[in-house]
Amino acid sequence: KLVAERYLKREILGEGTYGVVFKAIDTKTGKTVAIKKIRLGKYKEGVNFTALREIKLLKELKDPNIIELIDAFPHKGNLHLVFEFMESDLEAVIRDRNAVLSPADVKSYLQMTLKGLAFCHKKWVLHRDMKPNNLLIGSDGQLKLADFGLARIFGSPDRKFTHQVFARWYRAPELLFGTKQYGAGVDVWAAGCIFAELLLRRPFLQGSSDIDQLGKIFAAFGTPKPSQWYDMVYLPDYVEYQFVPAPPLRSLFPMASDDALDLLSKMFTYDPKARISAQQALEHRYFTTVPAPTKPALLPRPI
Ligand code: ADP
Repeated sequence: KLVAERYLKREILGEGTYGVVFKAIDTKTGKTVAIKKIRLGKYKEGVNFTALREIKLLKELKDPNIIELIDAFPHKGNLHLVFEFMESDLEAVIRDRNAVLSPADVKSYLQMTLKGLAFCHKKWVLHRDMKPNNLLIGSDGQLKLADFGLARIFGSPDRKFTHQVFARWYRAPELLFGTKQYGAGVDVWAAGCIFAELLLRRPFLQGSSDIDQLGKIFAAFGTPKPSQWYDMVYLPDYVEYQFVPAPPLRSLFPMASDDALDLLSKMFTYDPKARISAQQALEHRYFTTVPAPTKPALLPRPI
């Protein structure tokens, strides 16, 4: 029995932020796909035309470092999003104790992440929920960003489904202080956290609540001074934190190169208006000095 007269349903791949994801064969192309069944919850009636219109725009976002949205359709009251199927994700690579990640490999993963981000930001689409298990890896080693634009259409995921606790670790300080006018900087901050995680092989700032997350951020980079981030005190959920000075970044990343640390510090700039953009990050000398980024096909094969 085909779904939407086209997809042959296979096993469930997992339960995600927005609902169940299952594997399927696209009988039109013969390719394996991943179908996300999105619970429409409270907006169930009248399958939300705004969502459908915005999803149409996401179908136009085509880039080698973005997961292609192949198809989208409502079926039995759920919205189905069809994506290209990916073998693995960056979280599995980071966690795989048998995989050695060389400085060149880290550079390659970060470069592919930033290329995907820069492409979407140029088209004014934000991700808003970047984390290593959203960075999918294909059989050719290419890294592609998944779930682009979904957070804006379907709402902040972790407020609706409590199993989503990890996303907090990648959240920019302006989001934690409740800003409503966030921009592309939130994705760059998250990419900085992922860069740090690639260097450390463990999540960098593991807060246990939003307050604790900000505490961890300030302990790592120092409490921001008004001269560093003028707008901070005007943010909706701003609370004063006890001042802590910034330890040298080097002490947190003893093995990283000077270029890596310089780029990292620019991605972790407090003021989102002063934070480096994804495009500027790609132009940083980290990417042109040795070692060159590993070619995707030569990256460690995730299990
Ligand atoms: P989350 O919202 O927690 O990031 P997702 O909804 O993205 O989770 O995915 C749920 C499960 O489906 C995960 O195990 C993920 O690996 C898998 N998955 C999601 N997208 C794809 C894809 N394009 N190809 C293969 N597996 C996928």
